[in-house]
Amino acid sequence: MKNISIIGSTGSIGTQSLDIVRANDDLNVVALAAGSNTVLLEKQAREFKPDIIGIWDEDKAKELRVALSEFDIRIVSGMDGLIEIATYVKADIVITAIVGMIGIRPTVEAIKAGKDIALANKETLVTAGHIIMPLAKEYNVRILPVDSEHSAIFQCLHGEEDNKISRLLITASGGPFRGKTRKELENVTVEDALKHPNWSMGNKITIDSATMVNKGLEVIEARWLFDVAPADIEVVVQPQSIIHSMVEFEDGAVKAQLGTPDMKLPIQYALYYPERRYLAGDRLDFTKMNGIIIDKPDIDVFKGLTFAYNSLEKGGSMPTVFNAANEKAVSLFLNRKIKFLEIYDIIENCMDNHEVIENPTLEEIINLQKETEKYIDKNFLNN
Ligand code: NAD
Ligand code: MG
Repeated sequence: MKNISIIGSTGSIGTQSLDIVRANDDLNVVALAAGSNTVLLEKQAREFKPDIIGIWDEDKAKELRVALSEFDIRIVSGMDGLIEIATYVKADIVITAIVGMIGIRPTVEAIKAGKDIALANKETLVTAGHIIMPLAKEYNVRILPVDSEHSAIFQCLHGEEDNKISRLLITASGGPFRGKTRKELENVTVEDALKHPNWSMGNKITIDSATMVNKGLEVIEARWLFDVAPADIEVVVQPQSIIHSMVEFEDGAVKAQLGTPDMKLPIQYALYYPERRYLAGDRLDFTKMNGIIIDKPDIDVFKGLTFAYNSLEKGGSMPTVFNAANEKAVSLFLNRKIKFLEIYDIIENCMDNHEVIENPTLEEIINLQKETEKYIDKNFLNN
């Protein structure tokens, strides 16, 4: 029996993780945390009967204590609660399905508590990869990628531990605006940007896919997970989302992992690694495919990749500023306070105005997020 804790259980990755638990008798949920969706969290608690659940807001935790009074479930709130869920003594593995830099502290504490991490929360690695990876080594825990591209690379690298990687080829779908010019993107709406062609995901990552900031974050994520130099990480557009990523070895051989776009596969692979289990779902039919399309990304229009490589080159705290500025800009766009292309302007401006801190500590990273948010409020909002 594998005992699982999920932080972010009500979101896209969280609910699909619970689908995997439903389909497998040897997986057991012991702890769940969510941001604000009390209705779904209550439902999940009734179904999976974890020992402990958490919700961000203490008032909502009070509501849940009343609603779930017939169960023996501990209900916690806030950052302390989130950390309690991430470090819960009975959990063997923590799925970090929470969105944003708020995932950093619970992930660090989970590692220190000896938990394996099924990592979906890429913002944590982007901003604190230099802390997380050595910490995982020190505590002898595994960081198992859930992001589909990184899971693909991880699957390709299985059995290749002693072999030299020459390149990682990360695939991108290109998002809903692939092929569009900058002019055509000037007045796109939130609804347009939320229409992802292949994947159904949370709002923040869907906007990140439209700007291609998501792919930029994934380049940084790959740099930390696989210890590959940024110059050896290449992004190619694969609009069908069938090739989930590829690895080229020094002899020129390229290994790829293919499949229909379904996040349940990488989630399940992380939970059972290195074992494969049956997973229901569509299978690829190569005879019905009209060739496999590979294209180059348009880095002039979709600047997410340029920001990522620049921030890796500057190093230190620059990826934190890239990520924090993006988190804030995306939330402003989703709240209809700024236009789509202003997401790029905000990120660029924040990065240009940042003086790099080498090797930032956790505190510095978290403070920098607050400072970046304040800077954006001051310089980009007229209120
Ligand atoms: P989502 O918005 O659908 O879900 C986010 C979850 O985090 C929700 O359960 C929400 O309640 C929870 N949350 C937010 N703030 C919280 C707080 N303060 N305290 C506790 N819980 C909080 O997001 P998602 O699409 O599932 O993405 C989650 C993470 O996985 C992101 O980092 C994303 O980049 C990554 N990811 C997602 C996908 C995907 O297919 N959705 C694919 C690859 C990577
Ligand atoms: Mg991905």
